[in-house]
Amino acid sequence: MATTLISGGTVVSAIGRRAADVLIDGESIAAILAPGHAAAYGITPDTVIDATGKYVVPGGVDAHVHMSLPFGGTVSADDFDTGSRAAAWGGVTTIVDFASQTVGLDVRETLAARHAEAAGECHVDYAFHQIIGDVNEESLEAMTYLVENEGVTSFKMFMAYPGVFYSDDGQILRAMQNASESGALMMMHAENGIAIDVLVAQSLAAGDTDPKFHSYTRPEELESEATHRAIKLARVAGNVPLYIVHMSASEALEEVSRAQHMGLNVFAETCPQYLYLSIEDHLAQPGFEGAKWVCSTPLRSKHEHHQKDLWKGLRMNELAVVSTDHCPFCMKDQKELGVGDFSKIPNGMGGVEHRMEMIYQGVVMGEMTLERWVETCCTTPARMFGLDKKGVLEPGADADVLVWDPNNTTKIGIDDKHHMAMDHSSYEGFEVDGKVDTVISRGRVVVQNDTYVGSKGHGKFVKRGLNKYIH
Ligand SMILES: [Zn+2]
Repeated sequence: MATTLISGGTVVSAIGRRAADVLIDGESIAAILAPGHAAAYGITPDTVIDATGKYVVPGGVDAHVHMSLPFGGTVSADDFDTGSRAAAWGGVTTIVDFASQTVGLDVRETLAARHAEAAGECHVDYAFHQIIGDVNEESLEAMTYLVENEGVTSFKMFMAYPGVFYSDDGQILRAMQNASESGALMMMHAENGIAIDVLVAQSLAAGDTDPKFHSYTRPEELESEATHRAIKLARVAGNVPLYIVHMSASEALEEVSRAQHMGLNVFAETCPQYLYLSIEDHLAQPGFEGAKWVCSTPLRSKHEHHQKDLWKGLRMNELAVVSTDHCPFCMKDQKELGVGDFSKIPNGMGGVEHRMEMIYQGVVMGEMTLERWVETCCTTPARMFGLDKKGVLEPGADADVLVWDPNNTTKIGIDDKHHMAMDHSSYEGFEVDGKVDTVISRGRVVVQNDTYVGSKGHGKFVKRGLNKYIH
């Protein structure tokens, strides 16, 4: 097997940093060596990557992405090929996408179909969560089967989107009880979709049809109420581990914090868009521009406390993970479906390429430590979702490595760094400190010298174990 030595860098983990060299043998990390010690052990690597002045961190794990997701009469613009390639460009070496069971569908068939879509297409490793949108005897049985046989150990449900993905409280409780038995993790899109639909209808009837009304009809109360309800249902279902996705609002975060103080198994993620973007500066841009930033949960007002509180939540571990909820739609032919009616704008934005960059900027701004950047973007998502060989640089772990240059900068925008299959950038004009230098996926260099050298089909499906914070 070919050996690679990443020498001269500072290895950063979730718990500290030190000068060290990383030895890769084939697809795995073989050793972390004191600087310059490879020769003393008689090791002559086939390849040496000079990381002098750079950080050497685990490859990013993005636990929430949607490639080729059918939504609102269209399909998200990145497929597994383009989306996983953009992930690699962003220093992300594992993505977790979703198989989706909706009413009338067979869970195992939807998972098999998703496997068929992704097989041979991915540039980095991938795994799946399973969406459960129709709770019945068969789907409950299938949930157990997936945990025991398929390496799919987390299930996502929706309190939003009535008629599409929505489950009522009784259905959610039944699925949670099942997960409590099997040891699986429940993921929740926590927004009160029944109430939101009333507000949407009223807004449209009043002629308030611009993109910004997407946010005004999804007030934070309806996110925090659903978060609260999900927490209570999870407790009734035997304190099943619960993971709230894409948290955007202060009040919802308070619900999570309170549950954690009670000792409940409640976790949450946020996404870069909620830390940087706002109604005023983005969603409420003139004309139809704001459609670019229509996603659910929605962007919030910059005049409220959300961004400050979300950063604090990340520091305090109330928010354990940063994901992207990557779900890009082009303006042309896709977002445009909602001209004159914001409720018809496909929900989602692209960001899989920029998470490491945008959260590293939080380190630069003093919002979190370098170690916490690694923890929230690499290590915790791997442990949360049972990706046992990902998210750490340790002997025996997969050789997924990001060499990060802190002395460089990254300019984000459609004519700058932009490799996603969308006709605009959610972060157009952002210029951040730090830069992806070299990316290694299971021992293979995929990005180096601003050049893509990976290939479609290198990425493999990864079977996941159980959540490592409970089990
Ligand atoms: Zn999502």
